[in-house]
Amino acid sequence: MSRLIFVLLDGLRAAAADSHMGFMAALTEHGDARRLTLDCALPPLSRPLYATLITGRTPAELGLFHNGDARPCPVPTLFHKARDARRVTAAAAYYWFSELCNRSPFDPGRDRLTLDAALPIGHGLFYQRDDYPDEELFHDAEALRRRCAPDLLLVHSMNIDNAGHVSGGHNAAYRQAVREADRLLSLWIPLWQAAGYAVCVTADHGMHADGQHDDLVDDVRRVPLWFIGDAWRGPLDALGHAPRQTDIARLCLEVLGVQGAS
Ligand SMILES: [Zn+2]
Repeated sequence: MSRLIFVLLDGLRAAAADSHMGFMAALTEHGDARRLTLDCALPPLSRPLYATLITGRTPAELGLFHNGDARPCPVPTLFHKARDARRVTAAAAYYWFSELCNRSPFDPGRDRLTLDAALPIGHGLFYQRDDYPDEELFHDAEALRRRCAPDLLLVHSMNIDNAGHVSGGHNAAYRQAVREADRLLSLWIPLWQAAGYAVCVTADHGMHADGQHDDLVDDVRRVPLWFIGDAWRGPLDALGHAPRQTDIARLCLEVLGVQGAS
C-alpha cells in the first residue's frame, strides 16, 4: 500500500512528450520512471476520458460521449472506492472532476474549495477557466497535499490543451506549454517522491495540428504514460500486458491497497 499522486496533463500527445519533456526523459533514462505510450479510448474528448481514467470503463460502457454531459459518473470511481476504503482523497483539477465525482452542476461558491471527507473527492480546489495557470494549479495541489495529507491526490492541468485549442497542436505556444509542464514536474516530483508518494503521469488525449482532438489519428490518440516509484512494479507485473487507458484506475487502486479494483 502506498500513497499516490496522479498527474493528468490535459491534451498532451505522446510525440510532444517525447520531444519536449527533458525532465521526464531523464527520469526514464535513469530508471526512475517507466514510460509507455498508449491509445486513448474513444471518443477522444476530455469529459468522457476523465471518466474512463477514474473508472476503467470506456465512454461507450459508461454511455458518456460528449463534454456537455454533466451527469455524475454512472459507476463508482477511483475516488469513491478510495473514500470507501477510508483513504484521504484530494484533487486540484478542472471542475468537471467535481461534477463527475462529487456534485453536479458545479456551483463555484460551494464547490471551488471542497472540504468534506464524506464526498468521494474529500478535499478539492477546482478551477473553471481553461487558461488557469498550470503553475498556480501545482501550487493548489501542493497546498492540498500539505494541508490534507491525501493518500490519493489528482493534479490536473489544462494549459497544454488550451494552448493547442488556441494556437494549434503543432505551434510554438503548444510546445512551450509542454515544456512548462515538464519544468513544473521537475520541481514537484522529486519532492513528492521524497515524501513517499508513487506518481503516475498521463494525458486524456492528444492534440491535432488544427487545434482539435476529435480525429482518429496518432496525434490525438497516442498519449504518454509514466509510472514513478517502486509501488507500481507489483501491479504492473500482475497485469500481464501493456497497460491500456482502461487499466489505469485499477492499477491506482492496487497501489493504494484498495480492494475491489475493477
Ligand atoms: Zn480539449
